[in-house]
Amino acid sequence: MELISMPGHQAKGKVWLVGAGPGDIELLTLKAYRILKHAEVVLFDALVSQDIIDLIPHSAEKIAVGKRAGKHSASQDEINQLLVTKAYTRRNVVRLKGGDPFIFGRGGEELQTLVAADIPFEVVPGITAASGTSAYAGIPLTHRDYAQGVTFITGHCQLAGRPMDWQGYANPNNTLVVYMGTLNANIISQGLIDAGRDSKTPVAIVSKATTQDQQKFIGTLDSLGQLAADPALHMPALIIIGEVVNLTDSLNWFNPQSAEACEADFSTASLY
Ligand code: SAH
Repeated sequence: MELISMPGHQAKGKVWLVGAGPGDIELLTLKAYRILKHAEVVLFDALVSQDIIDLIPHSAEKIAVGKRAGKHSASQDEINQLLVTKAYTRRNVVRLKGGDPFIFGRGGEELQTLVAADIPFEVVPGITAASGTSAYAGIPLTHRDYAQGVTFITGHCQLAGRPMDWQGYANPNNTLVVYMGTLNANIISQGLIDAGRDSKTPVAIVSKATTQDQQKFIGTLDSLGQLAADPALHMPALIIIGEVVNLTDSLNWFNPQSAEACEADFSTASLY
């Protein structure tokens, strides 16, 4: 799709590509908060938590561009066009994304569109789901005794079109974090086992991490497909594969039920 811009005219505004973090409102950065408070228009994804959407000033135009409650979700072309159009007419345009905008968030693609249309931008990083989940599930992604590295992959790949590097991901001293992986859990588990990863490697699926609805499902690599098929599992959910998952038994600290009390404290805090 060709972008409609106004050659010869200067865009009036600037676009802030902002990460909203994984859910817990207190994981929003101060910078993201400040920018949201000055927004004239905010385009947000379905993954952004309602608490954070509620921070957007009433005066700002709010545009939901992700799939929400069965409503139509905008195509990437439509989002790109909206960003350009809004930047020509408004000063402070915020593109708000779940987690970090540069991790499986198409943030790079949207910025390339802005570059092509000569629109200025800034990027505000967010806490990505892997970090939020790791912290709130008590699963350190690296640990000197169990994992010397960590790899983030998407499980939502066109598995046929872009072959997965199962051999690379099967390294037993590495933690593997799979975004958007639950639908392909069987393929992922089989690919890793075939490439030599121990079928009894511990795995965790954590859904709605960092919120009061967080749930954690623990199993082994050969049971990943069954874990992912659990009807109690809600989206979004992240898969963590590796020996570090065993640490959750002793390092778990987050009690989702008490998270509400935490938010109530926050709303009365004078920080903001
Ligand atoms: N840019 C986002 C990721 C977008 S891809 C980020 O940095 O976090 C969407 C995937 O992220 C989901 O399918 C899920 O795998 C993961 N995800 C996002 N938020 C999550 C949450 N609160 N709990 C568990 N997984 C989450």
